[in-house]
Amino acid sequence: MKLYDKPAHVLHEMLAKKEISSVELTNDVFSRLDDVEGDVGAYLLTTREDAMKNAEAVDKKVAAGEEIPFLAGIPGAIKDNICTNGVKTTCASKILENFVPPYDATVMTKLKKNNTVVVGKTNLDEFAMGGSTENSAYHVTHNPWNTDCVPGGSSGGSAAAVASGSAIWALGSDTGGSIRQPASFCGVVGMKPTYGRVSRYGLVAYASSLDQIGPIARDVTDCANILNVIAGHDDMDSTSSAAAVPDYTKSLVENVKGLKIGLPKEYFIDGIDEDVEKAIRTAIDDLKNMGAEVVDISLPHTPYAISTYYLIAPAEAATNLERYDGVSYGERVSGIDVVEMMKNTRTQKFGTEVKRRIMIGNYALSAGYYDAYYLKALKVRTLIQKDYTEAFKTVDVIACPTAPTPAYKIGAMINDPLKMYLQDICTVPINLAGLPGISLPCGFSEKGMPIGLQIIGKPLDEETVIRAAFSYESTHSFAGKIANMGGKDA
Ligand code: GLN
Repeated sequence: MKLYDKPAHVLHEMLAKKEISSVELTNDVFSRLDDVEGDVGAYLLTTREDAMKNAEAVDKKVAAGEEIPFLAGIPGAIKDNICTNGVKTTCASKILENFVPPYDATVMTKLKKNNTVVVGKTNLDEFAMGGSTENSAYHVTHNPWNTDCVPGGSSGGSAAAVASGSAIWALGSDTGGSIRQPASFCGVVGMKPTYGRVSRYGLVAYASSLDQIGPIARDVTDCANILNVIAGHDDMDSTSSAAAVPDYTKSLVENVKGLKIGLPKEYFIDGIDEDVEKAIRTAIDDLKNMGAEVVDISLPHTPYAISTYYLIAPAEAATNLERYDGVSYGERVSGIDVVEMMKNTRTQKFGTEVKRRIMIGNYALSAGYYDAYYLKALKVRTLIQKDYTEAFKTVDVIACPTAPTPAYKIGAMINDPLKMYLQDICTVPINLAGLPGISLPCGFSEKGMPIGLQIIGKPLDEETVIRAAFSYESTHSFAGKIANMGGKDA
């Protein structure tokens, strides 16, 4: 029986009822991986032996009559900027080529408590800086729906793994769209929780005031269940929220009657792809027909979001990446003295995009320019946050595209960083405001590439986001599809 194409909640039921074993499921996922990974390149490393051992342990529990938690025995993939004890964590950078963390990120500890099976560590843009996974120092990941196209990024490996069937679910991280945009490009569901909802302990920092870990999965039900496992306060992350974590599966109800959905006019901008606009407007009409009330809203500071983000994120990145000096962290490249050693290390081991951001960040933070750039960006960030606070006085959620275009061809934008940055227009404001957002499939372009609908919620109100997304998903048939992979879908 083909198992790799099923969502985790279906597989969980089958495991609990002893219709399948985790060993059988794990073997099926790895054999799919063997078939497709050569074309997709979702992984930087696989952990097959450990996965099989953990699968056997789950099967023993089931055989002994124990009840198993949701993710037990279900193979998932972890973005390679999340620390895994004893397993290499490279951030797709040469500077961390041989870094083996001596501890687990909090999310990993939580997953292990739930007897998860990990397939491996997935590719990303180096240090999560990018939107196409082309900035990986190791290899490019291909979009399973069309391998000439990018999978999005930076969690492109995680999204491509779930979409191609080489993982049932995955974790990603989202600083300016890195869960939602690859989910949109690969036709899967990706959720960025509220800033602070999930512990960042053990997530290699890119921009600490924006970073958040979240699930990438086949459907909204899986996302809700994964969030149940990873959310919650953590003493090891001083920015993690102390708010109680609800049971997100209670929000898996098909009901949007009376739900007020805001439609921000600034998100339907010139340059948005026709197919995307059509799919999003149709999705919103469908939600309206299901009983939701659609309200036109304005988020006036949206046009400043890209510049604000591309000052704050690089500024924080420049600070966070100071530690890779060949002494505290980083593969050392020797030199005649300590200065030359550090220079050689950073010159040779960081990629172009990372260096670009370190330079932008340090420039924005430097004495003469701090007020004009970094401080100004912080002030505009507050204005952007206020736009949302204002909007949420009248609406329950906001709906818009996840990305202005479907997945584009590999190489199309790599030499034009500004064009690439502009692609983030629909996702970065949500990180600047710290809000929860989900991307779920809502159609395909004429060329057959997936399109994602983004639903954004009030701070800590993942529940309403999940309810709206689930209601849409259960009345449409876009979710849960595995890419055909040129007939490899035997
Ligand atoms: N594309 C954005 C950037 O390059 C977002 C990346 C992310 O969310 N990690 O910064």
